[in-house]
Amino acid sequence: MMTRMETFWMACDSTEQLRAEYGPFHTRAEAEVEARKLGFGFLLRYEHVIGAEDDIQEVRCVFIELPQRPAPVGGIRRKLHTRCATCGETAVHDESWQAEVWADIHEFEHTRHRVRLFELTRGEGLKEIIDWRDQCA
Ligand SMILES: [Zn+2]
Repeated sequence: MMTRMETFWMACDSTEQLRAEYGPFHTRAEAEVEARKLGFGFLLRYEHVIGAEDDIQEVRCVFIELPQRPAPVGGIRRKLHTRCATCGETAVHDESWQAEVWADIHEFEHTRHRVRLFELTRGEGLKEIIDWRDQCA
C-alpha cells in the first residue's frame, strides 16, 4: 500500500498543551521568520502520513527550539492571539476588534466551537483574557 508524507511547519510560543500556534507554513524558513516577528521561541513540524485514499494515517510532531537572539530594538506592540479551544485553529491580530471578528466568523462557521483570546506582551508572555466575549457584548 502506498503512503506519502506531508510536512508543514507552525510557529509556536511554547511546547505546552495550551500554546499559541501560527501557521501553517510550507517551509521551515517561512515559519522561522514568522516566529521571530511574533517573538515565539519554537517551531513545530507536523508530519502527516497519508494513505492511498488520502486518509491521514499518522500524525507526528516535533518541536524545535529556536536559538535565542537579542530582542529587536524598539518596542514590539502587544499582539492578540485567538485560539479555538475546540479545533485548535489560531490567528494573530493587532486590534481587539479583529480578534472579535475572527472569533465571530469561526464560531459561526463551526457550530459549538469556542474561541479563546490571549494577549502576548514581551516580558509577560502569553496571558489568557477570560470572559472576553462577554466583556465585548
Ligand atoms: Zn474551531
